[in-house]
This record gives sequence, C-alpha cells and structure tokens, in this order.
Amino acid sequence: MLTLSKLIDEVKCYETVRMMRWPEGICCIACGAKSVTQRGKHATYPIRQRYVCGACGCQFDDLSDTIFAGRHQPLPTWIACLYLMGLNVSNQQIAQELSLHKDDVHQMTSELRQAIADKRPEVQLSGTVELDEVYVTAGHKGQPEQVKKKTVRDADANSKGFGDGERSKRRNRRSSG
Ligand SMILES: [Zn+2]
Repeated sequence: MLTLSKLIDEVKCYETVRMMRWPEGICCIACGAKSVTQRGKHATYPIRQRYVCGACGCQFDDLSDTIFAGRHQPLPTWIACLYLMGLNVSNQQIAQELSLHKDDVHQMTSELRQAIADKRPEVQLSGTVELDEVYVTAGHKGQPEQVKKKTVRDADANSKGFGDGERSKRRNRRSSG
C-alpha cells in the first residue's frame, strides 16, 4: 500500500535533522567541540551517519539524543507524522495516512508535542519596557454612522465639523466635567 512515509526521501529526512540540530556545523553532543570526524554508518540504517569527537572521544550518530533515536518506526514516518501534525490533521487521519495503529500515533504525537514544548524557550522581558504612541482614529469622513460607533477625540471632532446631536451632547458632558 502506498503511504506518505514511503514517498518521503529518507536521505532528505536525515539532512533535515542534521541541519536543524547543527545549523553551524556538526559538533559533539557531549562537549560541544567542532573537531568531529565521520566514523562509518549505522548498522541497521546505512543512511545514518556516525561520528567521533576529536576532543573527548564521544561517539554518536545523526539521531543520538534526539526524540527520533532508538525508535521502531523509521525516521521518514516520524517526519511525516510531524508534518501532518503541523497541518492539524487528527491522530486518526495520521494513522490512516501512514498505515499505523491509532494507539501508536497517539503515543508518537504526544511525545512530539512534549518534545516541542520542552524545546520552546521561555519569553523573557528585561530592562525598561516601553509602548509606542497610540493614535486614535478621529473619524471616517463621509461615514457618520461609522464615526458614531467610535470614541472620538474632542479637538478632532470639532475640526472635522461632525455635528450630529448625539455626539454634541457627549462632548458637552465631557467638557463640562
Ligand atoms: Zn566531545
């Protein structure tokens, strides 16, 4: 049966993961050193590149320390699942598209959501926080009905010469109080 994950290029999936986790070039997952050399391929997944760190000797591969490591489902299935989640597709529909059991999909989407939440940096504001000036629209020329619905600044209302009874009353009340 033809499924979305079978149409996805596995090599591209690995390239994508590499680009996302190491945008500045591959570095050691243990010490962060950049002196990393390739050390053969993964025994089960020959596309998965293995590395060794020149600084601390740590050995790792493309998926080490990621949510995709040590999974039963191959990487394209996870990437396809992530893609469909981004389109707001339901678990049941994802299960159909990828020919998976819906319980498995439920597990996958829960873990992916959690991983995304864990990675999201907290928003921090520091120092003096300022707001820009706020402009209040005085009115829409030729659309008195629109103007009536809005709060109008007195000076502008005067200069524009909108003189309907309702606002005149309001203006008087405001200027007297
Ligand atoms: Zn290292």
